[in-house]
Amino acid sequence: MVVIGAGQAGLSAAYHLRRSGFEPERDFVVLDRSPAPGGAWQFRWPSLTYGKVHGMHSLPGMELTGADPARPSSEVVGEYFADYERTFGLRVRRPVRVRAVRDAEEDGEGTGRRMLVESDAGVWSMRALINATGTWDRPFWPRYPGRETFRGRQLHTAGYKGPEEFAGLRVVVVGGGASGTQHLLEIAPYAAATTWVTRRPPVFREGPFDEDAGRAAVALVEERVRQGLPPRSVVSVTGLPLNEAIRQGLRDGTLDRLPMFDRITPEGVAWRDGRRVDADVILWATGFRAALGHLAPLRLREPGGGIRVEGTRAVADPRVHLVGYGPSASTIGANRAGRAAVRDVRRLLREPSLSWAAA
Ligand SMILES: Cc1cc2nc3c(=O)[nH]c(=O)nc-3n(C[C@H](O)[C@H](O)[C@H](O)COP(=O)(O)OP(=O)(O)OC[C@H]3O[C@@H](n4cnc5c(N)ncnc54)[C@H](O)[C@@H]3O)c2cc1C
Repeated sequence: MVVIGAGQAGLSAAYHLRRSGFEPERDFVVLDRSPAPGGAWQFRWPSLTYGKVHGMHSLPGMELTGADPARPSSEVVGEYFADYERTFGLRVRRPVRVRAVRDAEEDGEGTGRRMLVESDAGVWSMRALINATGTWDRPFWPRYPGRETFRGRQLHTAGYKGPEEFAGLRVVVVGGGASGTQHLLEIAPYAAATTWVTRRPPVFREGPFDEDAGRAAVALVEERVRQGLPPRSVVSVTGLPLNEAIRQGLRDGTLDRLPMFDRITPEGVAWRDGRRVDADVILWATGFRAALGHLAPLRLREPGGGIRVEGTRAVADPRVHLVGYGPSASTIGANRAGRAAVRDVRRLLREPSLSWAAA
C-alpha cells in the first residue's frame, strides 16, 4: 500500500495504518515530495505565525502543546511533524514526487488488480492507495482579460513571503478569504496604497467558530463532492472571523472592498464603468485546487470535474482513498479521514469480494 503525501492527512493515515499492524516499508510506504516534514505548512510565509492560524488540530496520538504563538507556523508545525514521524517510526520517504498512478497490466492473486505508483524514486506496485496530496501544489489563478499585458508584478499567495517587499508599492489584492485579508492587513502599513477586490462581498462571522458551524461548513463541501463537483475548501466556507485585526481594518478602510475588476491593463486594473486603479503589484489570494493530476490515468473524474467520494473512497475505484480532499480538507477533517480510510483499506485487503477485480 502507498500513502502519497505526508501532510496532516497522510500522517494521520500512516499513524492509523501502524496502529492496525501494518509495518512501514514492509506493508506500506509514505512518499512525500516536500524537502522536509510539515506538509504544506513548511511553505507558508513567515509572518503567518502559529497564533494567527485558526484552529490547527493536533495529529492523532500526540498533542502539539506549548508552542509559542509568535513563532512562524511553518517552523512550529515542521518541528512537530518531524517529531511525530520519529515517534511513530513512520519512515516517510522524501523528497519523492509521484508522477502518475496507473493500473498494472497483470491481475493480482485474488485480491484485486494492482496499481503502479510511478515516482522519481522508482515504481511501487500496490493494491490500495491513500492519496493525501493536499492543494498547495496547485495554486488557482483565475483568468481575466489583459493579464499578460500588466507591466507590474503578479504573484499568488503560494509565492507570498511577507509584507516588506511591497514597501512603497501600490498593491491590488484579489480574493475574499482568510489569506487575502491577512495579506492586506500586513501589507497596508508598508505599501503606498492597497486595493481589495473580491468576487462576492466578504462574509464576516461574529463569535466563536463552534462545532455546529464546523459541521455545517463540512456538510456544504460534502454535498458538492457527493455530486461529483470540484470541492471548495472547508476553510473557504467557514467565513472570516471578525477578530480585532479585521475590525481595525474595517474601521481604517484597509478592508474597504471593491467588486471584481473587469480587465487588467498595462498600468493596473479597470472596471466597465470606467473606474481604474493603477498598481505595481497584483497579489492573487484566490485559493488552491486539489493536486490530483497524478491520478489522471485512473480516470476518476466525473463530468462535473470533481471526483465522487463516499466517505474517503473514490466511487469509481474503491482501491483509491482521498484524504484531506473536499470535506476533509481541514486539519480536523484530515485526522478523521486518515482513520476512516484505513478502516476501509483493511476491509478491502481482507475481503477479496470487495476488491476492484471482483467489483
Ligand atoms: C494559507 C493556508 C492556511 C490554512 N490554515 C488552516 C487552519 O488554520 N486550520 C485548518 O484546519 N486548516 C487550514 N488550512 C487548510 C490546510 O491546508 C489543511 O487543514 C491541512 O493542513 C492540509 O493537510 P493535507 O495533509 O491535506 O495537505 P498538505 O499539508 O498540503 O500536504 C500534502 C503533502 O503532499 C505532498 N505532495 C503533493 N503532491 C505530491 C506528489 N505528486 N507526490 C508526492 N507528494 C506530493 C506535498 O508536498 C505535501 O507535503 C490552511 C490552508 C492554507 C492554504
